Amino acid sequence: MSFSITVSSSKGRIVYISGPVVKAELPGALLYELVFVGELGLFGEVVRIQGDMAFIQVYEETTGLKPGEPVTRTGEPLSAWLGPGILNRVYDGVQRPLPLIFDLTKRPFVARGGINYEKAPPLDLSKKWKWIPKVKVGDEVEVGDILGVVPETPLVEHRILYPPIYRTGGVVKYVAPEGEYTIEDVIAEVETKEGTVKVKMWHKWPVRRPRPFREKLPPVEPLITGIRTVDTLFPIAIGGAAAIPGPFGSGKTVTIRTLAMYSEARLVFPVLCGERGNEAADALQGLLKLVDPNTGRPLMERTTIIVNTSNMPVAAREASIYMGVTIAEYFRDQGYDSFLMADSTSRWAEAMREVALRIGEMPSEEGGFPAYLPTRLAEFYERSGRVVTLGKGNRLGSVTIAASVSPPGGDFTEPVTSHTLRFVGAFWPLDAKLAYSRHYPAINWLMGFSRYVDTVAEWYQKNVAPDWRELRDEAVRILTREAELQEVVRILGTEALSEQEKHLLNAAFIIREGFLKQDAYHPVDVRSLPPKQYWLLRLIITFYRKGLEAINRGVPASALRELDTVKRLPRLRMEVKNEEYKKLIDYEQELINAIENLVKQYESQRVTTTA
Ligand code: ADP
Repeated sequence: MSFSITVSSSKGRIVYISGPVVKAELPGALLYELVFVGELGLFGEVVRIQGDMAFIQVYEETTGLKPGEPVTRTGEPLSAWLGPGILNRVYDGVQRPLPLIFDLTKRPFVARGGINYEKAPPLDLSKKWKWIPKVKVGDEVEVGDILGVVPETPLVEHRILYPPIYRTGGVVKYVAPEGEYTIEDVIAEVETKEGTVKVKMWHKWPVRRPRPFREKLPPVEPLITGIRTVDTLFPIAIGGAAAIPGPFGSGKTVTIRTLAMYSEARLVFPVLCGERGNEAADALQGLLKLVDPNTGRPLMERTTIIVNTSNMPVAAREASIYMGVTIAEYFRDQGYDSFLMADSTSRWAEAMREVALRIGEMPSEEGGFPAYLPTRLAEFYERSGRVVTLGKGNRLGSVTIAASVSPPGGDFTEPVTSHTLRFVGAFWPLDAKLAYSRHYPAINWLMGFSRYVDTVAEWYQKNVAPDWRELRDEAVRILTREAELQEVVRILGTEALSEQEKHLLNAAFIIREGFLKQDAYHPVDVRSLPPKQYWLLRLIITFYRKGLEAINRGVPASALRELDTVKRLPRLRMEVKNEEYKKLIDYEQELINAIENLVKQYESQRVTTTA
């Protein structure tokens, strides 16, 4: 396999140009085939065929193109190049490498004229990598087996598979001895029923085609993110999908950055899709600077970033989501947990809409979106999952997706948001009002949900605490009741509340201040591991339950609230480090003692007054 694309002889001509879309007479064109458009050889993809006419979405600026210019078919679909050298890189939506430092507000970013594979290939073809074989001559290999490994970065060992581009396995006839090789060198030869296959360290995979696996597993293990509101209230499972709708300034970028840095996924793939150049530049700079919390090394060593800003060609934006998820699947197949963060899928859908309108698809969804919007969204989210990979050894790997949506005017009934809600298991709505009052993360706890609560509860009960689910549900109940009581207070004033209800409001206040709020800039608070999350919540629920008993024995809610041990509860999230969570266990006893003493005090007062 040579790195240059095999160009088939069939040529065509441009009929007309409409923004990013070109109509061409191109007999025999295939749907999703890559083509080179015009004298410059602009890079495009066939997105609709009508007889001999092909509609092509062009991934580069089409200014200057003229009817009559040639179009050349490649016979290949848009594909990702997958192999060592893919990490620690920033690409655009069609995998053109972008320099790590560049100005996203200016254009063009890359010279026009084909996806210059010779001059700037997506993967470095001449760099030598250390290859460590894991098979020997005579071994039987099947599709998906690990042939060898390449220590690509200090954080990730790249596993070289017998790739799924081959249909059948076979017997290893040759394997390159340990040493330094480029990705173009043959590292193994496999004798199959269909002949000898020469395997290199890289292969291409069509981005719109999900990569195969053996079996999809149910989402029963949580992907720990370290964000309490997420993990405890609205968890995401490994292989699950979550949507994050949020207006500007509500904390989407900070949330995605926190997820990238602290979630327990091995590889993270941020796809920055369609934001304005300067916003994307900020987001990108933020991501590039992140440090892996476990090793202190640059986070980029376990990351590939896809960036397509709103001033880059719209069609490449449409491709960026597929590019990102294909790379995530590729690492899943190696047996890793990948985490894709797409920001924002609304901008992606808008790109889809723009192309659809120009190729003459009738809009059928509200907002002018094409009829296939829900299918496209479903197909994208369907590519998340925890799987048993192909190959021997029952390797497990996963792709988890967190995708932001930007509903215009915060209207969750608009098509992109409402369809997305059907396909994701968790929903973390960011709320402008909460952000304005500096409650971060601004996830609205009354509107959020997670279908994974039921599936991950067993894991939590086994690995964290048997009453995890019970405490979590109680916290949700208290918060829901708080909202109702606040309505009552608004109309009738606090006097209308019973002592029990006042106590509930106090407990809800502590849940919000001491548990839900989490400062992404505070070194201790930024990441809470499950034991700390559990004990923080348990302390608050203990306060609530023991406090209720105390109230029933004559203690006023205000006296409970004024206890020093209670006043300190909201600060514990910043005071107690993850590894010190046992301090919280001791704290519970202190809290119970303080409440008991208060009860005794009130009871003895009553005895004195009655005596
Ligand atoms: P968006 O991407 O939705 O426009 P940002 O993520 O840039 O919003 O957040 C806006 C500001 O809100 C940030 O600059 C930061 O000051 C604050 N912020 C957001 N999330 C948090 C958080 N978890 N902790 C502390 N501050 C936050």
